[in-house]
Amino acid sequence: MEWINLAYLVSAVLFIMGLKGLGSPRSAPRGNLLGAIGMFIAVVATLCDKGVVDYSWIIAGIVVGSAIGVIMARRVAMTQMPEMVAIFNGFGGAASLVVALSTYLIVSGGSASWATALVLSALIGAVTLTGSIVAWAKLQGYADQAMKLPKQGLWRAGLVLTIGVLAFLFIQNPYEGGCYLFARSLVALGLGVLLVIAIGGADMPVVIALLNSYSGLAAAATGFALNNYGLIISGALVGASGLILSQIMCKAMNRSLGSVLFGGAMVSDDQMDAIPGKEFYEGKVKSCGAEEVAMLLENAQKVIFAPGYGLAVAQAQHVTQDLALMLEARGIDVKFAIHPVAGRMPGHMNVLLAEAEVPYDKLVEMDNINPEFSQTDVTIVLGANDVTNPAARDDKASPIYGMPILEVDKSRTVIVIKRSLSPGFAGIPNPLFINDNSLMLFGDAKAVLQDLNRAVSEL
Ligand code: NDP
Repeated sequence: MEWINLAYLVSAVLFIMGLKGLGSPRSAPRGNLLGAIGMFIAVVATLCDKGVVDYSWIIAGIVVGSAIGVIMARRVAMTQMPEMVAIFNGFGGAASLVVALSTYLIVSGGSASWATALVLSALIGAVTLTGSIVAWAKLQGYADQAMKLPKQGLWRAGLVLTIGVLAFLFIQNPYEGGCYLFARSLVALGLGVLLVIAIGGADMPVVIALLNSYSGLAAAATGFALNNYGLIISGALVGASGLILSQIMCKAMNRSLGSVLFGGAMVSDDQMDAIPGKEFYEGKVKSCGAEEVAMLLENAQKVIFAPGYGLAVAQAQHVTQDLALMLEARGIDVKFAIHPVAGRMPGHMNVLLAEAEVPYDKLVEMDNINPEFSQTDVTIVLGANDVTNPAARDDKASPIYGMPILEVDKSRTVIVIKRSLSPGFAGIPNPLFINDNSLMLFGDAKAVLQDLNRAVSEL
């Protein structure tokens, strides 16, 4: 029907406007709303399609799916968002796989191009499903970070070859080759596991963005199989945006996509063995109390906060903003330094600080804030670790060498707030903590900042 295609076109325009809106924190809520309206229109148009013969299963699916979605979204902590995104990607892949296989069972044959679309939909869907489950298990701590299997490359090559042969056999004879399609999907489930099992550590967010892209591509292929323009367009947009996000994250971690996917662990076994333990810090760390930091702040003209994962864990965003307002009331210039992979998901710090109503113009991206550290009196590192590690800039042997960092160490004084000397996500020591100009303020970020606020208000 013409109007259904028109509705898909309108939703595609809304998706694109929504994606554009998501490009900046200020316009993100509007972008999100536009995308949601676009999705609503697309869903209504699909439900009005004459191809739908029975609504009962669809309504049951909507009710059960919505209930699960609401419960999951309400329960998930901000720090568990990557896990939730990972498992949702898996659901997307599963949907494409199941739709591809059931379409075959209903139609049981078609042109070579139709069979190719089915092959792609089932393949990418299956890889996304098992790949996402492995990613989710790793992020939950149920599976080891980077697991090496013997002859992993050979296994992968073998599975890819088998998939290629079975796909060829199915496309040659889509009417009677159903068994090849099903066998191929099983092999693809195994490939999904093998592709992700060897990846771990700080590479995981890239993999999740990539799996998100795969789930979009699987949906687009399903759209070709079902001749549904809405699915083709939205799937292609998810596929492209996930790929762009993966590239941005790779750049922020100084990794290439190829090395993330096929290079194995970010920290090799040799590098792991060479990582020093607690002795790295012995006798070299200077710690201080809240009163001492308050006195430093009293004489400061410019202060930068460098937030990281620990800020999210402590939920200290509101108390940080209270401190920022108090300092500004004293005429101190206050800014927030935002590293692209600080926290555990892209934009984590932006979302967290926006929740505490930190004005957007106070959030300064890494490239813009780095030249300012040398003119800063006090930088307060709030539960950040890897993204401030000078070894990434100075130590060629460091596993994170080359990853761009917030150059907080260039400030006159650096206060590092964290609970202990434990490492961050990358699992390596941070020489920042033993720098001459660094002072450690140990404790949970929220509790420490509350003490600090009290001390500043008593000045
Ligand atoms: P890190 O993971 O390097 O360090 C966080 C620090 O927070 C820890 O050292 C921890 O130290 C401290 N911390 C934890 N809880 C608290 C608390 N309650 N109060 C105070 N401090 C606390 O975080 P960064 O943000 O610096 O770096 C992010 C890392 O995560 C990078 O390696 C990045 O590659 C990776 N990553 C990024 C993703 C993204 O998309 N943003 C996704 C997944 C991984 P202690 O225990 O001593 O308190």
